[in-house]
Amino acid sequence: MFFVRSGEQNPCPCCGGTLKVIGSRRRSYIKDTGNINILVIRRLQCYNCGRIHHELPDILVPYKRYESKSIESVITSESLLTVMADESTIWRWRTWFSNLSGHFLGCLISISIRLGKETVESTCHLPKSTLQRIWHYVGDAPKWLARTVRPVANSNFWIHTRSAFLS
Ligand SMILES: [Zn+2]
Repeated sequence: MFFVRSGEQNPCPCCGGTLKVIGSRRRSYIKDTGNINILVIRRLQCYNCGRIHHELPDILVPYKRYESKSIESVITSESLLTVMADESTIWRWRTWFSNLSGHFLGCLISISIRLGKETVESTCHLPKSTLQRIWHYVGDAPKWLARTVRPVANSNFWIHTRSAFLS
């Protein structure tokens, strides 16, 4: 077990307010070996709107029990799986990503435009497949899924009825 202490100070994903640490919680996850690990994640509250969020370590995907890199390897490679997960879990990850990849891409484009890094017109010339388009923004090096998930969750674009970050 180890503690998550991310150096970056993210603002509240709902209102942009400053977050204060009000406690912590344990979150278990399954490693690619099949072993279960436990993380201690900081519980944060917004000074402005009062909402509570949980810090998202980059090895995890919100609401997923497995490590980000396990899910990423399943999405990226068609065969040669080294992840200890059953077939139905792997099928769910592939379905999850194919359902959400368009949303992730839209978020990355809108964040990029908001940051002034891109105009709406320039996004028309991106490569064809959704995954290639996502890689255009986050790169295709290992941890690309973590680099995709973090800005989406931190911008409150995560599709879920509960708040973004972890729960
Ligand atoms: Zn807030």
